Amino acid sequence: MSKRLVMFDMDGVLFDTMPRHARAWKLAFDEVGHHEPESAYYIHEGRNGKGTIQTVLGEDADWEPVYRRKSEFFASLPEGGLIPGAKKVVEMVHGAGIPAIVVTGSGQARNFDRIAAEYPGLFRTEWMVTGKDVTKGKPDPEPYLTGLRKAGVAPQDAVVVENAPMGVESGHAAGCLVVAVNTGPLPDQCLLDAGADYLFPSMDALAEHLEEILR
Ligand code: MG
Repeated sequence: MSKRLVMFDMDGVLFDTMPRHARAWKLAFDEVGHHEPESAYYIHEGRNGKGTIQTVLGEDADWEPVYRRKSEFFASLPEGGLIPGAKKVVEMVHGAGIPAIVVTGSGQARNFDRIAAEYPGLFRTEWMVTGKDVTKGKPDPEPYLTGLRKAGVAPQDAVVVENAPMGVESGHAAGCLVVAVNTGPLPDQCLLDAGADYLFPSMDALAEHLEEILR
């Protein structure tokens, strides 16, 4: 094995949280008269709330009330489970003796407790990168560059596992090998256009090819 680090995105890779976000966005935007199907909101994954609202409604939009409603809807909806096959992939990386870390734009402590509970002992938590560790989020390379720096690993020795176009773009710009796993409704081409080196329809499919990717 020549790879020395695997960096996992969290939402849509480890936890099936994106349907809950998309549903909450739809309910909040519907209230202000902007109607799109839930699937339309997946493309914004990785943007913060303000950025998402301004992209959808325009730069001058009064974003705070919409964001407050989105947060309320989100809190009222059920929490998603694990992405199928995700634990198997993380366990395989761990079993190969390669450190695994989480690189997420999220800043929610609840999520970090959940990683510890659902993926016990599988991640190097001291090298984790959250929304609080960076000034520019994905698609900027800063989040993945921060992970590389914390782990002391060169980009060419690292693999990024992502589900969202902006996350793929971030990992690619950081110089890493990027594995896209399409766990949502976006067309595969969005992930390929963003710079994915590999594309799989599921974490189970990635598990079947993991050995060659880590080689
Ligand atoms: Mg994601």
